[in-house]
Amino acid sequence: MPSAEPQLSRWVMNDTAIQAPLERWLTGPRFAALPARDASHRAPALSFEFFPPSTEALEHQLWHCIRRLEPLAPRFVSVTYGAGGSTHARTHATLARILGETTLTPAAHLTCVNASRDEIDAIARSYWELGIRHIVALRGDVPGGGAYVPRPDGYAYAVDLVAGLRRIADFEISVAAYPEVHPEAPSPQADLDNLKRKLDAGATRAITNYFFDAETYLRFLERALAAGITAPIVPGIMPVSNYAQAVRFSALSGIAVPSWLGHLFDGLEQDHETRRMVAAVVAAEQVRVLQACGIDEFHFYTLNRPDLVYAIAHILGVRSATLPERA
Ligand SMILES: Cc1cc2nc3c(=O)[nH]c(=O)nc-3n(C[C@H](O)[C@H](O)[C@H](O)COP(=O)(O)OP(=O)(O)OC[C@H]3O[C@@H](n4cnc5c(N)ncnc54)[C@H](O)[C@@H]3O)c2cc1C
Repeated sequence: MPSAEPQLSRWVMNDTAIQAPLERWLTGPRFAALPARDASHRAPALSFEFFPPSTEALEHQLWHCIRRLEPLAPRFVSVTYGAGGSTHARTHATLARILGETTLTPAAHLTCVNASRDEIDAIARSYWELGIRHIVALRGDVPGGGAYVPRPDGYAYAVDLVAGLRRIADFEISVAAYPEVHPEAPSPQADLDNLKRKLDAGATRAITNYFFDAETYLRFLERALAAGITAPIVPGIMPVSNYAQAVRFSALSGIAVPSWLGHLFDGLEQDHETRRMVAAVVAAEQVRVLQACGIDEFHFYTLNRPDLVYAIAHILGVRSATLPERA
């Protein structure tokens, strides 16, 4: 029997073109069994990302999503902060409602763009007073695109924000990581150095941008480990059912969309139902490969839609818990 030992280097595929099938089958990736229903199975830790709603209909959709995913008892749920802080009030209101009306632990995204250090510090303090103990600290992007120029009175980069937050309160801090390199980074090594600086400055976890190839992520983990990073770099998973939109998004973020993904969605443009089934299978396979490799933390970009995420979490072995009565 092939061993199912999680070992990163085994997941970097050999050159399949020059190998005979048996050699390829015997030296390629090995998949662990599906999660067993016994004491040996430890369900992975999940977190979910939501965006703050801008209309009543979207508010309704978000809360349907939150209620559906809440029984999965995620480690935390995070609420994004719109480009340039444009959703500040809505982010705050969403976090307050999650704190007040659910059993969930919310984390607040916070960005540096378009604000002075004093303004950002005041927001961070208001989060702490509200009861938020976890910040996802980001640089952010210039609203509407364009080159980023740090403000002289602001936090220039995420690393500076992390250091600033550490001075304000004892926040848990997560930061962003890019398996396919951030598009503005001078080099992959410079980007990795930046990630290490963010963790050294006080962040305890990185969450990756989404990616489609498990191998890309695993190679990135190997490079991070070699660079001396030991904090978890949690894979960010985005189930994709709208292929055309994913291609547009990914082009902006420097994320490779493999040709097999296009092939899977080919001809399904008008077939919403089948696209959702394909999306579930693609994302489930992605997380299963990572789980078989030993990864036991996953962050889901929910886009405020629960069903695919719920199904994938179920496949990973996560089951609904009975929620405690709220006082
Ligand atoms: C998990 C996750 C959540 C996100 N949530 C949000 C959100 O809620 N709102 C939002 O607006 N955006 C969000 N983003 C997007 C993010 O803001 C952008 O990707 C942004 O372009 C970079 O943010 P960062 O925190 O990674 O920046 P940084 O870590 O500051 O890096 C930005 C770039 O600058 C480079 N760099 C770092 N330091 C220096 C330096 N001293 N000199 C020159 N270059 C430098 C880095 O290599 C990188 O290319 C999120 C991204 C992820 C992965």
